[in-house]
Amino acid sequence: MLITRKVVEGVLERGEVVPFFQPLRELRSGRLLGFELLARWQHPELGSILPHSFIETIERSGLLAELTRQVLSKALRASADLPDPLRLAVNISPSQLKDPGLCCLIADTAAEMNFSVRRLSIEITETALVDDFESARKNLGSVKELGCRLLLDDFGTGYSNLRHLQKLGFNGLKIDRSFVSDVLHSRDSRKIVAAIVGLGQSLNLTTIAEGIECEEQASLMLYLGCDVGQGWHYGRPTPAAKIGEVVHAPQPKLSAKWSVAGNDQHLASLEASPTQRVAHLQAIYDGAPVGLCLLSRDLRYLNLNQHFAEINKTSASDMIGQTVESVFPRWFPLYEPYLKRALAGEALSGLEVTRPGLVPGDVDQTILISYSPARDEAGEVIGISMALVDITLRKQDETALRSSEERFRTLIDRNPQTPWIFDRDGNVLDVGVQWERLTGYTRETTLASGYLETIYAADRERVVSYVRDAIAHKTDMDIEWRVVLKSGETCWVRSRGSAVFDEAGEVYRYYGSTEDIDELVRLRRYKAQFERTRTVSLGVAQLQARLS
Ligand code: C2E
Ligand code: MG
Ligand code: MG
Repeated sequence: MLITRKVVEGVLERGEVVPFFQPLRELRSGRLLGFELLARWQHPELGSILPHSFIETIERSGLLAELTRQVLSKALRASADLPDPLRLAVNISPSQLKDPGLCCLIADTAAEMNFSVRRLSIEITETALVDDFESARKNLGSVKELGCRLLLDDFGTGYSNLRHLQKLGFNGLKIDRSFVSDVLHSRDSRKIVAAIVGLGQSLNLTTIAEGIECEEQASLMLYLGCDVGQGWHYGRPTPAAKIGEVVHAPQPKLSAKWSVAGNDQHLASLEASPTQRVAHLQAIYDGAPVGLCLLSRDLRYLNLNQHFAEINKTSASDMIGQTVESVFPRWFPLYEPYLKRALAGEALSGLEVTRPGLVPGDVDQTILISYSPARDEAGEVIGISMALVDITLRKQDETALRSSEERFRTLIDRNPQTPWIFDRDGNVLDVGVQWERLTGYTRETTLASGYLETIYAADRERVVSYVRDAIAHKTDMDIEWRVVLKSGETCWVRSRGSAVFDEAGEVYRYYGSTEDIDELVRLRRYKAQFERTRTVSLGVAQLQARLS
């Protein structure tokens, strides 16, 4: 269909151009913030016709002001019941910024419809600023004075001077749909979006992502720091009659997941914007009791905390921007294999590395190191996060403890008695090496209840009930019994032990020792026999004396 001036005049006369409403939602929460008004020509036969087919002709015909008036007044009439915080955004073409009547048009239409101008946003494209900056500045200044918000539409496709953004008092940037549509596939688009968001944040502007068509794009745009989303994912442009449904629809939930080049990524927190994440990270850096640093792919120090500088005995200013190799040539060969693995995507934690002193003559340092690949939103490794803990002192303590344990064990092993430990159920937890020397049974066969097998059958019940009673009454142990040696012979032993109690006063362990008293028992027997013989012979002697 050929759209001529005559055609558009007729369209506007009959009021066939109407506003459609497309929702804008806060990305983080899904909360509805308002609608953008998009002109639709409702053709009696052809149905809804999109603006690109008729706007240019209307513009050339000098009828844009009339189009804006009709779209705006119909939209405001339909929005009479729209809850107050919800805003409406109206599109203004670049040429309209030269029209001195623009401000009055907006103010009068809003007043006529009894709609607060403070709830209106004006969207203009970057081209408007390039064409005739002076007129644009004047007109936009008046519109701002009215109380409208200013949004820069399709940002990233034009050539606007960044200083204009500040000078003209914009409130928000709408990131062009072309970047959003391939944000999941194009690294360049992601970097452009991140740069626009960074620009917006530093100028304190709201960033709005246009053309979000799926949840993954929404999650990624949120991750990149965008505030607001608009697009088919949140709703197609709808006629006025349907805006009530949108207002009352449940808020869409964000699962905060996306996949780039087959890598699944997740948002750790829906609350944090990149700026907040950076602030959070810095707080962790400053407060962490470990040394932390971030290395670039070419192994330069990008960021580090005070602990890291202290552990490395080197000031932060001597490290930042420098390569690991140039700052620590003595240590680099130790780190290099791990750094290469981390760059290849492997996370390595808890590596104990003993490194020589920073300069010859310094003592060795033992360091616990973790390397994690740092990834961007596409899962690409963009650097290495390194964590260090200096465990030199702990290592020295451990070595001292180990050698004192070894000394202690030597002393114990040289003791002729067999040390042992019982638990509160009468199980052997440990037994000295002397046991094997004495009986021929290994430690393993004796542990737990294994020792019961070594008790001479006639003594077993007595020993078992003695041990049970001692534990029950929390008394010391002192018992003699016979052990059946591996050789088959029996041998008298004496076991003595004392209880150690836990905090509740219950028996926790018995510590004691067992000694070989076979010789002693034999002597005792011999003595007893001797005594008996002596008594008998004394008796015989006395009897003899009495009889003689
Ligand atoms: P715009 O202001 O950038 O509007 C966004 C355009 O993106 C709209 O196209 C909208 O329908 C489309 N869109 C929104 N979400 C998605 C999505 O998820 N996927 C895709 N593929 N497209 C999406 P529309 O309605 O055809 O409008 C085109 C342009 O016409 C607008 O671009 C705006 O510059 C202009 N326009 C619309 N209404 C008016 C108006 O009343 N006055 C003036 N001067 N210009 C208008
Ligand atoms: Mg727009
Ligand atoms: Mg746009």
